[in-house]
Amino acid sequence: MERNKKADRKVYAKIKGQYHQKSIKRRIEAAFLDNIGKVLTREQIIKVATDPKTGREPENWHQRLSELRTDEGYTILSWRNRGDLKIQEYLMPHSKKRSSARKRVRPTDATWLAILRRANYACEWNEGGEACGLKDGEVDPIGGGRVKLTPDHKNPHSLDPEADPSDSSQWQALCGRHQVTKKNYWDSATGKLNTYAIVQFAPEKEKKRIFKFLLTYFGYTMLKNGTIRKGH
Ligand SMILES: [Zn+2]
Repeated sequence: MERNKKADRKVYAKIKGQYHQKSIKRRIEAAFLDNIGKVLTREQIIKVATDPKTGREPENWHQRLSELRTDEGYTILSWRNRGDLKIQEYLMPHSKKRSSARKRVRPTDATWLAILRRANYACEWNEGGEACGLKDGEVDPIGGGRVKLTPDHKNPHSLDPEADPSDSSQWQALCGRHQVTKKNYWDSATGKLNTYAIVQFAPEKEKKRIFKFLLTYFGYTMLKNGTIRKGH
């Protein structure tokens, strides 16, 4: 299939010097807000996120970027959502924040310690019976960076606003990658699987399979040259 070449021509961001905001997250946010509709590369984000005083490159920039999406409600697109973005290119199309972003409740320090002990200081994410098991401080072989376990409330917030900070059974320890996975895959408003997000995050091969399924489902046929026509 031919992509529409005229639409959405890519423009790359220009970083104007250093950012002096106090935190990694705020520096990344400022750079995106300065470059609405433009593509920021991984290198540019790392440069922006680097501590202006110590010059230390942050290894957790990706998690901070995810938090801008999930906690603060910004839209930041990547290759997963837009076919013309390459891996490690990011784009904020507008500065609007979704209002669904909400403050998170945290377990108490004592509860968090109990959770970590139960979890044996490893990520408790379980997929098809297989546990993630990455330990706090290890290098994540898939996501890169060091694993930092953080608490996750098992039920989506809005379904269970009475999250009990002292009941360890309501919480689990998750690595950064699985925190992001969960936020992306579960709709916290309905508690249902977010099918749209799952398709967005699927590899291109899977997307093609789904695309073909939908064509058939809605009664279209794709010809050998990529043309789509109504009817089987
Ligand atoms: Zn994990």
